[in-house]
Amino acid sequence: MKSSHPESVDFHAIGTSSDSELNPFRIVQRQVDEAAQVLKLDPGIHELLRWPLREIHVTLPVRMDDGSTRIFHGFRVQYNDARGPCKGGIRFHPEETIDDVRALAAWMVWKCALVDIPLGGGKGGIICDPRTMSRGELERLARAYIRQVGHHLGLVKDVPAPDVNTNAQIMAWMVDEFAFMHGYNEFGMITGKPIALGGSLGREDATGRGVMLTVREAAKKLSLDLKGARMVVQGYGNVGSWAAVLLQDLGCKLVGVADVSGAWSNPEGMDAYALQEYVKEKKVLEGCPGLGTPIPPEQVLELPCEILIPAALHNQIRKDNVARIKPRILAEGANGPTTPEADQVLHENGVYVIPDFLCNAGGVTVSYFEMVQNAYNYYWDLKTVHDRLEQKMVAAFNAVHDMAQKYKVHNRLAAYLVAISRVAEAMRLRGWA
Ligand code: NAD
Repeated sequence: MKSSHPESVDFHAIGTSSDSELNPFRIVQRQVDEAAQVLKLDPGIHELLRWPLREIHVTLPVRMDDGSTRIFHGFRVQYNDARGPCKGGIRFHPEETIDDVRALAAWMVWKCALVDIPLGGGKGGIICDPRTMSRGELERLARAYIRQVGHHLGLVKDVPAPDVNTNAQIMAWMVDEFAFMHGYNEFGMITGKPIALGGSLGREDATGRGVMLTVREAAKKLSLDLKGARMVVQGYGNVGSWAAVLLQDLGCKLVGVADVSGAWSNPEGMDAYALQEYVKEKKVLEGCPGLGTPIPPEQVLELPCEILIPAALHNQIRKDNVARIKPRILAEGANGPTTPEADQVLHENGVYVIPDFLCNAGGVTVSYFEMVQNAYNYYWDLKTVHDRLEQKMVAAFNAVHDMAQKYKVHNRLAAYLVAISRVAEAMRLRGWA
C-alpha cells in the first residue's frame, strides 16, 4: 500500500523495472526456457534456474558533507551458487533496478560456468548518482553497503567486484569495512582490488586479452590469416584498447575506431598502441594523430573488415543496421551489443559471432585467479596469470564451438547450452530437484 506521507516512497516499488519485452530479467527467463527445451531439462531444475535463489534489499543512511542524512537503496542478488560461491560486480547507478541486477547476476552464473571456474553468479547495485557525490560521501556509502550485506559476503559465500561507476578504491574501502566487521582481513571477499591490497597482476588487460584469445581461436576455425586482417573497434576504453593492441601484436590492422568523441576510418591502418597511450592521457580519441578520416559514428560498425569488436554499449547491432554489418568475426567485447533479432540475421549471413559472455569472460577469470591467490596468500607472476587465462579461454571457446556443431545452433545458444548444462548438472548432483 502506498504511504500518504509526501516524503515516503513505496518500498516495494523501489528499483523495479517495467514488464516490457526489453526487461532484462524477462530476457534471461526466455533464454533459460529456450536452453531448457533443447537440453530437455528436468522441470524442477528449469523452474529453479528461472529465479534468483536469494536477494537482499537494503536501505542505507549516509551522512552527507552538508550534515544531512540521505537514504539510499541497494541490492545484492545471489542468483545461483550450485557450482560455488556467487561472483559478480557492484554497480552505482541512478537508474539501477532490481530486474537489471537479477539479469546481470544470472549472466554471471552462465559466464562462470562457461569458463568452468568453480563459482556461481551474483550482482549488486546501489541507486545513486556518483557524479554528484564527493569522495567522502562515496566512501561512507560503500561502507554502509558492506555493513548491511557484509554478513552475506565472503570468500566462500559471495565475492563482489567493480562494475559500472565503481573501482579499485571503492573495493579497498569495502574490504576494509569487512575487516572491521569480522576482526580479521579477508582480502578474497572482493576482487578488483589495488595490487597493494591483494589484487592480481594481469587484471587490467584480462578482458581485452580474452577477446584476443577468442578471436585467435575463431580465426583458426575459419582458416582466416590474422596477418593483415582488418579490424574495427567501437569503444576504446579498457576492453576495446587492450583487444586492439593485443590483436595488432598478432598482425591485425586497425582500420576503424570510435569512442564517445567520434569515429574514424583509416584503410592504411592506425597504431593501436599510440591510440591507447593518447586515451590514457586525454581520456578520448579526438585529436589523436593518425586517426584518419572522421566518419558518422553509426557508420563505424559498417566498415568493411574481417574482425569487428563492439566494446562500448549495448544494443548497437540491431534490426535496422544488421544487414550492413558483415565482418567474418564479430567479437562481442561489450555486454549485450547485439539484439536478439539482429543475432538471427548475423547467423544467416554467415558471420561468426563470439557471444559476449564467452568473449569478455577474461575479466572474471582473472578475478577468480585473484580469489585463489588471496586464499593461499601467495601471488603469481604475470606469465602464470597469462598462461592460465589462455587455458581457460581456449577451453571455453572450444566447448562452445563443439556444442554449436553438435546441436547445429548458433554460437550464442551453444554458449547457453554449455553453461546451463553445467549448472544444471551441479544442481542435480546436489539433489536440488
Ligand atoms: P570503458 O569505460 O573503459 O570504455 C568504454 C568506451 O566506450 C570508451 O572508449 C567510451 O568513449 C566508449 N563509448 C561510450 N559511449 C560511446 C558511444 N556512444 N559510441 C562509441 N563509443 C562510446 O569501459 P570498458 O571497461 O572497456 O567496458 C566496455 C564494455 O565491456 C561494457 O559493455 C562493459 O560492460 C563490458 N565489459 C567490461 C569488462 C571489463 O573488465 N572492463 C568485462 C566484461 C564486460
